[in-house]
Amino acid sequence: MNIKAQKRRKMENYMYQAVANNELRLHYQPIVGAKSGQLIGAEALMRWESPQLGFLPPNDFISLAEDNGLIIKFGEWAIREVCRQHKRWQQQGLGHLTIAVNLSGLQFNQVGFVPMVEAILAEYNLMSTSFLIFELTESVIMADTEKMFNKLWQLKSMGIKLSVDDFGTGYSSLSYLKSFPLDSLKIDRSFIKELPDNEDDAAIVNAILALASTLNLSTVAEGVETNQQREFLENSTCNSIQGYLFSKPMPVDEFYAYWQANTPNTL
Ligand code: C2E
Ligand code: MG
Ligand code: MG
Repeated sequence: MNIKAQKRRKMENYMYQAVANNELRLHYQPIVGAKSGQLIGAEALMRWESPQLGFLPPNDFISLAEDNGLIIKFGEWAIREVCRQHKRWQQQGLGHLTIAVNLSGLQFNQVGFVPMVEAILAEYNLMSTSFLIFELTESVIMADTEKMFNKLWQLKSMGIKLSVDDFGTGYSSLSYLKSFPLDSLKIDRSFIKELPDNEDDAAIVNAILALASTLNLSTVAEGVETNQQREFLENSTCNSIQGYLFSKPMPVDEFYAYWQANTPNTL
C-alpha cells in the first residue's frame, strides 16, 4: 500500500509539469469504412512521455489525473492539439478526415467547457468543425440529464459530432439515445472480441446495429483484430471499424505516412 501510494505521489508531482513541459502526446489510430476499407478518420489517444517515468499509456495516468483534476488541463490540451493538427493538415492540402477526441466526465462537466471549446476553435480560425468528434461514455452522458442535454445541444449547434464510447458497457437505460443529439455509437471491444463464433456477441452486435440504424446513428466497431471479425462487420450494417487489424495508434508522423499510403490515387 505504502509503495503504491509513494509511486502515485511521485507520478502526481511530475504530472503537474506535463503540459508546461510539453510531455503529452497524441497518437492517432485509423478508422476505416467497414465496406470500403478506406481511411475515413482517426481517434486521438493520449500518451505521456515523462522524462522521469518513461512512456505511459492513458490507463496508467488518466485515472490519477481525474482524481487530482489535472484531466481538465490535459483534456483542454488534447482538444487544442487536435485542432492545431487538423489546421496543419488542411494547410498541407490533405483531405478530410474526422478526428475523435476522448472527453472525461470531469472535464465535460466544467462550467466553462463549451466557451473553452469555442475559444480554441476561434484561436485556430476553424470555420468548419465537421472534422471534430467528441467521444463520451454512457455514464458521463447520463450523469446530469438536464445540464447534459443543454451542453450537448450547444456542441451540436457548433457542428461538433458526438459519439458514445464503449457502448453497451455502461448505463443500462437506453432512453438517453432518443433524447440527446448523438451522432454515433462505438461498439465496445468486448462484444467484437469473440466474433463471429460467439453467438451471443453476434446477437448483441446485430441488435446494437439495428438499434443504431433505426435511431439514425452511425456505428463504429472498436478493437477489430482479425479478418473474420472484419468480414462479419463488412456484411453487417456497421459503418466503420477501428482496430489493430488496420493499425495500432501511431505517433503523428507515422500516421501521416499511413494516411499518404492509404489515400487512393485520384490521378
Ligand atoms: P477508448 O477511447 O475506448 O480507446 C480505445 C482503446 O482501445 C485504445 O487504448 C486503443 O489503443 C485500444 N485499441 C484499439 N484497437 C484495439 C484492438 O484491436 N485491440 C486491443 N486490444 N485494443 C485496441 P489506449 O490508447 O490505451 O486508451 C485507453 C483509454 O484511455 C481510452 O479508451 C480512453 O478511455 C482513455 N483515453 C485515451 N486518450 C484520452 C484522452 O485524451 N482523454 C481522456 N479523457 N481519456 C483518454
Ligand atoms: Mg475512445
Ligand atoms: Mg472505446
